[in-house]
Amino acid sequence: MSDGLDFTVQRPPAYGELTDVLPKLFWVRLPVPTAPNHVNCWLLDNGPGWTIVDTGLNTDDTFEMWDKLWRGLLRARPLQNLTFTHAHADHFGLAGFFVKETKCSVRMPLAEWLSGWKMWHEREEGPDEQFASFMKRNGASGDEAAVIMAAQRPSKFLGGRPPREFIRIRDGDVIAMGQREWQVITAGGHSAEHALFFCAGEKILIAGDQILSHMAPSVIAPAAQPEANPMQEYLDALFRLEALPADTLVLPSHGLPFRGLHQRLAQLREHHQARLDDVMSVASGKTNAFLVAQEIFPRALYANPRLAFGEALAHLNMLASMGRLARDVDGDSVISFAPA
Ligand SMILES: [Zn+2]
Ligand SMILES: [Zn+2]
Repeated sequence: MSDGLDFTVQRPPAYGELTDVLPKLFWVRLPVPTAPNHVNCWLLDNGPGWTIVDTGLNTDDTFEMWDKLWRGLLRARPLQNLTFTHAHADHFGLAGFFVKETKCSVRMPLAEWLSGWKMWHEREEGPDEQFASFMKRNGASGDEAAVIMAAQRPSKFLGGRPPREFIRIRDGDVIAMGQREWQVITAGGHSAEHALFFCAGEKILIAGDQILSHMAPSVIAPAAQPEANPMQEYLDALFRLEALPADTLVLPSHGLPFRGLHQRLAQLREHHQARLDDVMSVASGKTNAFLVAQEIFPRALYANPRLAFGEALAHLNMLASMGRLARDVDGDSVISFAPA
């Protein structure tokens, strides 16, 4: 689903290798033990020191690769600032560690900083009864919810303790990184207040997970907000990004840098349209997020039920908002959908 894009490189660089993208802008690709197996981080040369956009996951591999870079090519000048696209662990996981080691500043949107803390607390608190009840409200039987909960293992890859202090960035702000000016664009859908950074002077977009080159980002209605319509937020953001120039160089967090922004936005929209049609096709009678997840995201159901239930519910809520499905909540708070 990435036809017609003009990739700046055909193959990714080796993990942990510092790669030139443009003057004063470098790329480091770091391993992630789960799909999509890597994350792209960007290093921006401020002159007296560095800004890094996203740090990668909190693993020994990632730690060793940063350590090697810091002892080598980056040795001469300090890390001044970390700027984050969003708080998912594959991007934000090492934030607290970097801050402790270097005393650098952290810049990110407020809702992402709060999400980072929420995820950290949830992990520290252990098994989540609220999520079990969310699954039951969305169609899983008590037995099914128990089996899914029992299959969950605490992830040792979730981030360390997040930084306690940060600089808030908002949509429309202009920030300096790597001797360029970047406009902050925030978007919902993939995460609460995901930041993208656009350099208008040179038409460069640090896109985070909002626009990926080879896959569509997850769009999840979270257990904390079963009525949310993140798919609408995600599609609205794609629409707003169309205002950027067609020949913008896009630097995604997963995949390869490319030109062809407008083609990619159209492909992502088509992908989600097809997914909405797939969900409609399995929703011929009364349905719910559990039944849809079994049909459309069967592999994720046990491995990553937050993704499977959340994606299913995001599509169902979108279809309800479009008037294609009717949403019903019964006296036991069980949520179901039926063709409108
Ligand atoms: Zn993400
Ligand atoms: Zn990601």
